[in-house]
Order: sequence, then structure tokens, then C-alpha cells
Amino acid sequence: MEEIKSMINKIGRNITKTSKDIIKNTKLSIQLSSQEEKLKNVYIEIGKKVYEIYSYGGNIGEFFDEKYKEMLAIEKEIDSIKQKIAENKEAKQEEAKPTQNIDKDIIDMRPQVSSVEECRICNACGQKNGVNDRFCVKCGRSL
Ligand SMILES: [Zn+2]
Repeated sequence: MEEIKSMINKIGRNITKTSKDIIKNTKLSIQLSSQEEKLKNVYIEIGKKVYEIYSYGGNIGEFFDEKYKEMLAIEKEIDSIKQKIAENKEAKQEEAKPTQNIDKDIIDMRPQVSSVEECRICNACGQKNGVNDRFCVKCGRSL
């Protein structure tokens, strides 16, 4: 009974952890699209302003310097959010690996153990004999 209880608790914890990871990545994705949206707005602002300045015969030097710095800051923010999302995904994959390997090892061990127990191989002719056989069924030598 206690075992079942602790198993259920464990499963519950795993589910909570997974959904927290999903929420974390969802938040990051929202941050990412909001930064990308900001960048798009700056592009539009630049386009409008350049058009205005040119239509009055001015130049774009100072205004562009300022906007370019703004864009670089947003791009840096976008990169760091993307990195965080990638790190979260990697961490999840590494968590999942060990249990898969343990399962595989258990499956691999089973046939080996049973095949050793089930037969005795004759030293003279190589015939597989039953565990309880005292003489080889093929050549008759003692095992
Ligand atoms: Zn034999």
C-alpha cells in the first residue's frame, strides 16, 4: 500500500515538473514573439522616419544611429531567450535518457541468463544438451 502511494506521488511530481517546464517554455516563447514584434515596429518606424526625413530633404545619420542601437539590444534579448528555450529542451532530453538505458539493460540481460541455465554444451562435439543431461545426446560422451 505504501509503495503504491509513493509511486503515485512520484508520478504526480513528474507531471508537475513537466508542466512547469512547458509553462516556462511557453513564457519564453511569448517573450520571444513580443521582442520580435518590437523589432518589427522599429523597422516600420525607421521606414516611416526615413521617408519623412527624405521628403523634407534631410539626412538620417543621428536618427539611424539611435534606432540601430535599439535594434541591437532587442536582437541580443531575442538570442538569450532562444538560448534559454534550447537549454530547457536539452535539460529535458538528458533527464529522459537514464531511465531508457536502464530498461534496455534489463531486457538485454534476460536471454543471456536463461540460455546459460538451459543448456550444457558438449566439449567434444559442441552439441547443446539439457541442463540435467549427464551424457551428450549426439556423441555420448559424459558432460
Ligand atoms: Zn557430444
